[in-house]
Amino acid sequence: MPELPEVEVVRRGLDAHVVGATVDSVQVLHPRAVRRHEPGPRDLALQVTGQKVASVEHRGKYMWLVLEPADLALVVHLGMSGQMLVQPPTVPDEKHLRIRAVLDNGADLRFVDQRTFGGWALAPLVEVDGDRLPLPVAHIARDPMDPRFDPDAVVAVLRTKHTEIKRALLDQTVVSGIGNIYADEALWRAGIHGERLASTLTKPAIGRLLDHARDVMAEALAQGGTSFDALYVNVNGASGYFDRSLSAYGQEGRPCPRCGSTMRREQFMNRSSTSCPRCQVRPRGLPR
Ligand SMILES: [Zn+2]
Repeated sequence: MPELPEVEVVRRGLDAHVVGATVDSVQVLHPRAVRRHEPGPRDLALQVTGQKVASVEHRGKYMWLVLEPADLALVVHLGMSGQMLVQPPTVPDEKHLRIRAVLDNGADLRFVDQRTFGGWALAPLVEVDGDRLPLPVAHIARDPMDPRFDPDAVVAVLRTKHTEIKRALLDQTVVSGIGNIYADEALWRAGIHGERLASTLTKPAIGRLLDHARDVMAEALAQGGTSFDALYVNVNGASGYFDRSLSAYGQEGRPCPRCGSTMRREQFMNRSSTSCPRCQVRPRGLPR
């Protein structure tokens, strides 16, 4: 699943290539790609045609195009394998092309999705705490790279959670944009085991953890931003360039870059978590 940096890489690419363009036509090539749009493929195509892309925005892992004059959000779910590609129309259709929007700037905006977990849907924009968000995104919290992210408020919320800190970090209604990769990285940098209860951590410890989450995502974004060229907007969910810089995620069996202990992998929330047994001590008394 793409996390905040991967989504932001795509958002920046779209910002450069589709903002200001008007949609001349839309073809939905696979109905599954618009299943979240209840009125169906014909309705989506009709409503999007003739609209101008006013901006491309995101909150955490959620991304949308603001369409004018309809003042609607075209919410893009990348799912597991969704890609938003900007292509010249002469490029042959990709094998897993699901939706094509022909733009008046001479480019196609193509949604390609091998596993079809992603898709497009239209949603009204609503005002939430000073921001305009698509209705399905209204409950999602600000991400740590949002200029209006309030770390003190998030620390206070996290300290009330009688749940594992990793579970709380992955809860998009508390803080958004963090998935398994950047949760493992931030926890390793902070020296905290993901199964520690959030309510047992000190205020400064949680503050540092959020700082690390922001820093690691900013570093990943800086490297992801170099990996796509002008007309190819890449989103593989995999961290692209940044996977060379990972310290914890996927590093099972390798030496901890800080202390040299062998990194371990554990199951948590049906996924794997990788951590250092010395830098990130497991809370005592946990059943295993
Ligand atoms: Zn270590």
